[in-house]
Amino acid sequence: MSRTTPPRPLDVEAFFPELAEHRGTATRLHPRPGGPTAADSSVGGPLRWPADEPWPVCGEFHGVGEGRRPADVRRLRRLLSALGDRPRTERELVLIAELGRLHRMPDPLAPVPLIALAQLYRRDVPDLPPGPDGCDLLQVFWCPFETHGPGRYERELVLRWRRSAEVGRVLAAAPEPPVVGSEHLLPEPCVLHPQRVVVHQFAGLLPEGLCARLDAWDEANEAAARAAGTRPVDYQEDLSIPPGWRVGGFASWHATDPYPVDCPVCGTAMRLLLVIDSSEAGGGSWAPVEDRGGPVEWSSCPTWVQIGDLCELNVFDCPADPAHPPRWCIQ
Ligand SMILES: [Zn+2]
Ligand SMILES: [Zn+2]
Repeated sequence: MSRTTPPRPLDVEAFFPELAEHRGTATRLHPRPGGPTAADSSVGGPLRWPADEPWPVCGEFHGVGEGRRPADVRRLRRLLSALGDRPRTERELVLIAELGRLHRMPDPLAPVPLIALAQLYRRDVPDLPPGPDGCDLLQVFWCPFETHGPGRYERELVLRWRRSAEVGRVLAAAPEPPVVGSEHLLPEPCVLHPQRVVVHQFAGLLPEGLCARLDAWDEANEAAARAAGTRPVDYQEDLSIPPGWRVGGFASWHATDPYPVDCPVCGTAMRLLLVIDSSEAGGGSWAPVEDRGGPVEWSSCPTWVQIGDLCELNVFDCPADPAHPPRWCIQ
């Protein structure tokens, strides 16, 4: 089933024609549980990875490397969704505790296989820019631990571009880390339902005068809606940037003030490549038509990936050379 974003509740450019200069497009990915293959774009699915190429690893020291075993995490997810809200039996409680137990890396000094987070084919995702040298397939990995960088609380994200036609024999089974530092880093296999939508620049990055007029307009809309007992239409909530996993468009800077994101190699202003979001729920007017009234978990967090406390991870790449390393920020 495809996913359809409903039309915006109103045409904001009819009220603010100058917003046309700050219009863009983004491709909403709408990940949903499924059985993707290496030939598909996916979150948490098998990658089209050459059988004879080493799988990427993280060589950083992660302390004792304590975490949960991937198989335990998956089994517990199955169990909890099968149990639903009903009271647990004694036996089930024991099993839940056992599957939630922490284990240590057998060898904390050994390199850790990265987790395959997503792969995106350009043919599926209209807003995915071309990779270096005509690459058409983006593969996204991260380390199963969040203990990198000087403060030892940063994540490690790796992007690999490749030409899909050049991959011969595909790796049958990807190596997995023995434990994951957080279950929120382990995605469930999801198929994608890419859909391109029109977006508008984050309010705080619009020209000052326009931003002030939009603020005043939002306030007037809110007062009118309160008087009428209806839901107000809001620029940031409804008309600029959708929630959920997406490619391209504009970054939302709702948690910090916007700051410049420049390429660490060449200094070029970077572009938003991918947004990894904790949830598509609370999407309000952005909620896909097909998900309305459906099971909550499908539209809330089908990937099981969570960024902090329901935040999103904005991944930027260098438009001058997509082979330059990415940067990211959490919002
Ligand atoms: Zn690592
Ligand atoms: Zn660069």
